[in-house]
Amino acid sequence: MKKHKQASSRQVKLQFLGGVRTVTGSSHLLTTPKSQILIDAGLFYGHREEFYRVNTTFSYHPSKISAVALSHAHIDHCGNIPTLFRYGLHAKIYTTSATRDLCKQMLADSARVQEEDFRYLKKIAHHMRGQVRRDAPRFRGPLYTEREALRAVGRFRPLHYGQRFKVSHDVTLTFFDAGHILGASVILIEVHMQHKTIRIGYAVDLGRKDLPMLNDPTVFRDLDTLILESTYGGRMHAPIPEAKEKLRDAITRTVARRGKIIIPAFALERTQEVVYYISELLKEKAIPEIPIYVDSPLAAKITEVFRRNVHYMNHEVKNMIRRDHSPFDFAPLRYVQGQEESKSLNNDKRPMIILAGSGMCEAGRVLHHLKNNITESRNTVLVVGYMAKNTLGKRIVDRERIVRIYGLEYELNAEVVVINALSGHADANDLLRYAQECSPFKRVFLVHGDEEQTKSLYDRFQEHQLNPYMPQKDEEVLLCEEGCRG
Ligand SMILES: [Zn+2]
Repeated sequence: MKKHKQASSRQVKLQFLGGVRTVTGSSHLLTTPKSQILIDAGLFYGHREEFYRVNTTFSYHPSKISAVALSHAHIDHCGNIPTLFRYGLHAKIYTTSATRDLCKQMLADSARVQEEDFRYLKKIAHHMRGQVRRDAPRFRGPLYTEREALRAVGRFRPLHYGQRFKVSHDVTLTFFDAGHILGASVILIEVHMQHKTIRIGYAVDLGRKDLPMLNDPTVFRDLDTLILESTYGGRMHAPIPEAKEKLRDAITRTVARRGKIIIPAFALERTQEVVYYISELLKEKAIPEIPIYVDSPLAAKITEVFRRNVHYMNHEVKNMIRRDHSPFDFAPLRYVQGQEESKSLNNDKRPMIILAGSGMCEAGRVLHHLKNNITESRNTVLVVGYMAKNTLGKRIVDRERIVRIYGLEYELNAEVVVINALSGHADANDLLRYAQECSPFKRVFLVHGDEEQTKSLYDRFQEHQLNPYMPQKDEEVLLCEEGCRG
């Protein structure tokens, strides 16, 4: 594929800035004859030095961006937006109102985590004073503060699903349901040229059909170009109904032996999904009525956003709420607020369900629940999300006999149950079906996946003559020149 370094006023070009051949730091730049549109600006995750360098290095001038199109509220898609304001961005961020409300919580939390890390590093540097200087950790401040995060959210301009909106002289955006998380969108980007309109579909991240609470992903028609994620380009998920069955069996089994069920869960979407399933199981009397605690202040705030954005959810949820059965508020469910209440659950010996963050067991209140419960075989750790390598969550999934928590060793005797059916991402078959439903188009760019996952999808798309392409990071491709037709 040809590279085009110099901008020409007659071309439409797409540059893949991040989230290519990897899954973090999603960001892409569309340059048209009259504007520059940034699509997502996610945080790249890496070790501190790399984290700071990658997230503050831009191959474009943030001040020249005409508009930002934001797909959804996951940090790897929205987490670098406040940084861009530090570097001169003054454009508006177009997204749905649910994504804006979720970003308010997610970006403020991301800022707090960075500010905390900065304070920790300052403390280490203080203790190291007087020692060999080059051994001292090199650090800079957080990418942004909580205040800056909230100020950035003030620049968000919400659009409804299906509302076609002109965001610059020659570009219109339309957001549609992505079926991935609350408010998530696939985005139709139309570039209006003199002789033709170029239609680009952006489906990163793409959800699945029949996820609890959400509508199915929207299929694009008449595209020139599709940009598609490939997180699970080479894998298949367990069918969604299996999640509810496994949840029911694990709860019933644990209560029968008078144990507790500890569920490490991400604050956004996964917590609400599990709570939703538990509410259904209770209604069906499929599980005994025991106390259920959501022990995460962030999850409680995010659940509040869900309550306010029911209009983004599917008919089942709307009907439930119309009948006064909120899936987020029911009798044995309680949202724990203070630290004291969280700790007091350790002294309560009744069978109960505790959902707590963090999702991969690396920090947060789930740590003290694990510490207090994993040594006893009557308890269960229920894993409902992805656990990355080298996390406590992964060690639990691997059923290591001894695990370290807060620097001390504990025997893992609790039952470990893993539910793989809850992913919010399309799997390999879903991605192929989606691309086929959107076709014909000229090309499909495969992004947002680890290399072998993207390659596996690429091979499959080749077999089906879908004309796939795997861009490199920072590669720029020409989509059209003024005068291009057909
Ligand atoms: Zn996502």
